[in-house]
Amino acid sequence: LHQIGELGWCEYQTTYYLYKQLLSSSFELFLGSEVMSKEARMGVPSAETDRSFFQKAKEAGVPDDFLEKVKGGLTGLVAVLDTKQEGPHFGFRFDIDALPIIEDDDSSHAPAKEGFSSQHRGTMHACAHDGHAAIGLGLACFVEENKDKLTGKYTFIFQPAEEGSRGAKAIVDKGWLDDVDYFLSGHIGVEDLAVGTISATTTQFLATTKLDVTFEGVSAHAGKKPHEGKNALLAAAEAALALQGITRHGDGTTRVNVGKLVSGSGRNIVAEQAFMEVETRGSTTDLNKYMVTEAIRKIKAAALSYDVTEKVDIVGEGIAVNSNKEWIEEVKAATEGSAFVSNVIDEAPIGASEDVAYMMKRVQDQGGLATYLLYGTPLQHGHHHKAFDFDERVLTVAVNVLMNVIAKKGCFR
Ligand SMILES: [Zn+2]
Ligand SMILES: [Zn+2]
Repeated sequence: LHQIGELGWCEYQTTYYLYKQLLSSSFELFLGSEVMSKEARMGVPSAETDRSFFQKAKEAGVPDDFLEKVKGGLTGLVAVLDTKQEGPHFGFRFDIDALPIIEDDDSSHAPAKEGFSSQHRGTMHACAHDGHAAIGLGLACFVEENKDKLTGKYTFIFQPAEEGSRGAKAIVDKGWLDDVDYFLSGHIGVEDLAVGTISATTTQFLATTKLDVTFEGVSAHAGKKPHEGKNALLAAAEAALALQGITRHGDGTTRVNVGKLVSGSGRNIVAEQAFMEVETRGSTTDLNKYMVTEAIRKIKAAALSYDVTEKVDIVGEGIAVNSNKEWIEEVKAATEGSAFVSNVIDEAPIGASEDVAYMMKRVQDQGGLATYLLYGTPLQHGHHHKAFDFDERVLTVAVNVLMNVIAKKGCFR
């Protein structure tokens, strides 16, 4: 999985790999438009990016009839095993996408040393989603092996495009979470912890919105006719500074970042176009909404000030949510005496955004209980770093935790 890392909505090889692993099991497998509402997807990549990963999948031998079902960015997989015995409905979510990072080829980086670096140069699993997918497969093995002894229903969601908060909502809209009683998801790492330490719940999810902003002006000769130009570069520059000056809200934490700004074509030309990647965050969904409203006004004001046009596209969105506290005791009781889990922390702050929040909220709104666990691993480098790596023993720990929760919920007949 590490070797075939793919960007969000382009996980063609990864989805096929998961599909193949589960094909001979009793799980019912769902692909393509069965997995998600196509229109609710956010931040779908350019046709060129899509084509490049699609082509790589073809060359790697992914069969045409499979690709036909997932083409156009309908990646990801839902696997359902219904024991038909009365019992709870469990939902699990594992994200599967990689990041646009050139992986470190230094021999101190384990994948480079052991020969399993990304084969897709410029795309790398630097957030452990390859590990998450592996945990999903591990847990699926447990459910498959014990299917005659278990009660209830088990829905495994292998979600595309988590990075940038783009994928979860489209799956929620398709109804997969509507009657889930117990929903578990989580992340490897996040905090630098020993293997065997886990957090039963997490707090401080930030709501977030990702905005692509384009300014459109008019180019002109910078010496002879500057007055005939309309300067998109200056509008973008002014917007970038003004965004940092949004008045902070008194009710809680907010964030804003301009992470990318590209503009202009040459020294002596009034810049015709500018493009910015912006994100806002807030400790509640309302605080984030406040930041978005303010950001859009600053962007429009900058455009007006330079008489250029502006276009704002929302390309990703995540809400704020909390784990149900009930899970603290549940997870502790479930992992008591486990040979793999040595320490359970009640809660850990995540301080970032996760689009699984959409899934958790849907489950909670329908009366179910949801949590987001952290699985400890020492981290030499942080997430999204070119030499990110985790201790693979954490995979066993995570599968063990989820197995034990199923067992604790009394699902063994
Ligand atoms: Zn990440
Ligand atoms: Zn991640």
